[in-house]
Amino acid sequence: MDEITGPEAGWERVVLHVDMDAFFAAVEVLDQPDLAGRPVIVGGSGARGVVASCTYEARAFGVRSAMPSVRARRLCPDAVFVDGHYARYSEVSRELHRLFAEVTPLVEPIGLDEAFLDVTGARRLLGSAETIARGIRDRVRTVLALDCSVGVGRSKMVAKLASRAAKPVATRQGVRPGPGVVVVAPEAETAFLHPLPVRALWGVGPATGDRLAGLGIATVGDLAALPEDIVVRHFGQAQGTHLAQLARGVDPGPVVADRAAKSLGHEETFRSDIADLAELGRHVVRMSESVARQLRDAGLAGRTVTVKVKFSDFTLITRSHTLGFLVDTAPALATVATALLEAVELRAGVRLLGVSVSGFEDLPSTEQLAFSLAGPEPEDVPEGPAGDDGAERLAPAARAARLQANWRELTAAVDAIRSRYGKTAVGPAALVGEHGVEVPGRRDAPWGPSAEAPP
Ligand SMILES: [Mg+2]
Repeated sequence: MDEITGPEAGWERVVLHVDMDAFFAAVEVLDQPDLAGRPVIVGGSGARGVVASCTYEARAFGVRSAMPSVRARRLCPDAVFVDGHYARYSEVSRELHRLFAEVTPLVEPIGLDEAFLDVTGARRLLGSAETIARGIRDRVRTVLALDCSVGVGRSKMVAKLASRAAKPVATRQGVRPGPGVVVVAPEAETAFLHPLPVRALWGVGPATGDRLAGLGIATVGDLAALPEDIVVRHFGQAQGTHLAQLARGVDPGPVVADRAAKSLGHEETFRSDIADLAELGRHVVRMSESVARQLRDAGLAGRTVTVKVKFSDFTLITRSHTLGFLVDTAPALATVATALLEAVELRAGVRLLGVSVSGFEDLPSTEQLAFSLAGPEPEDVPEGPAGDDGAERLAPAARAARLQANWRELTAAVDAIRSRYGKTAVGPAALVGEHGVEVPGRRDAPWGPSAEAPP
C-alpha cells in the first residue's frame, strides 16, 4: 500500500464528523421556500410541546432544540411553528447516508443527520481529509440542497468538537455563516481544545461539570493543567483517567461502521393527561401505523414490541413482548401494543405514550414470508385454555401473527401506491384491521401536540 504523505502523514487516524445544520428546520424551509430567512421552529406548538429543531434565524433569539415551545414563543414571538414530517426527514437522511457511503464504508451513523466517517484509508483515493470534507459538503449541497458542517480530527471527540466550530453562529446581531469545514491537526489540538468550556468534553455532564467548577476548573485547559493523580483523587480511577485523557485530546474510540439502529418508535406527549383506556387505545393504534410505516421505509422488521407510558406524576412504565415472528405491519403491531397497554394499570392520567419495535432482523422476501407465516390456519392456532393468564397473552400474539402474514403483501402494495400518489391516495378502508386501524394522523412528529391539533 502507498504511504500517506503530506501534512496528515502523522495522523494515526483521520475522522470526519458530518452534521447537518438545523436539519429538520432546513428540510421544512427546503419544502416550503416562503419560509426562507424566517425564524422557523419545528416541534409541538402546544402548551406542552417541545422544540425539535429551529433555523438559525430562530436561534438568534435564543431558541434552542429541546426547549419548551412556550419558552421559545416567548423568546421569539414571530417564530413560525411547523409540524414535523418524520417520514420526509428519514427520506432525506437515507440520501445523506448514501452520499457518505460513496466516500467510505467506515461510517458510524449517530442519528438521522449525523455520522462519523473514518477516512484514514480513503485519502489514498480521494485526497486529503480537508479535500474529502469539502467534497462532502459540496455533494450534500448539490444533491440535497441542504447545508452541513464537517469537523476533522484524529479522534471522534475532536472531530465532533470541530464540526461544532464549523457551524453558523446565531447572535442577536444576526446569523453569521460558519467556516463549514474545520480541520484540527494533532499539533493544533491543544490550542483548539484548551479554550473550550470543560463541559464540551464527552462524558462531562451537568454533575461532573459542577464538581469541576467547584474545583475552579472552567476550561479544558484548566483540566489539562491539573496533574492526572489529582483528577483521579477527585473522580476515581476510571472517570479520573478518562477525563484527564480527554482534556489532552486522547479519545481512542474507533469509528464503528454500520452500527445498526436498536429500536424504532414513536412517542407523544399529550396536550392534557388521558385517563381513558379506549382513548389511549386509539392513540396506540395510530402510533403503531406510524411506526410500522417507518419500519418499512427503513426496510426493518423486529420481534420485540414495547409500549411506554408516562403518568402525570412522571413515573414511567414500559411493557415489552417478544414475538416468535417479525413484525412490520400496522395491524399486527397495533394488536400486540394494544394488549401491552391493556396490561398496564392506569392509576393516574397518562402524560406520554410511546410504541416502539426492537430486535431487528432482515425480513424475508414476501414469498418466503407467506410460506413461513401462512402457518397454521386461524382455528389451529393454539390459544390455551380459556381464562388462563398465559392464554390471554398468547391470544393477541397469535392474532398478530395472522395479521402480519395477511397484511404484509397488501401493505407493500399500499406503500407503493402512497409513495407514488401521496398519503391520501389509499383511504382508511384499506387500513382497517381486526382492531379497526385508523388512518395515520396528519402529524407524525414525536415531540408533542400542536396548538391546533385536535385534542
Ligand atoms: Mg445536526
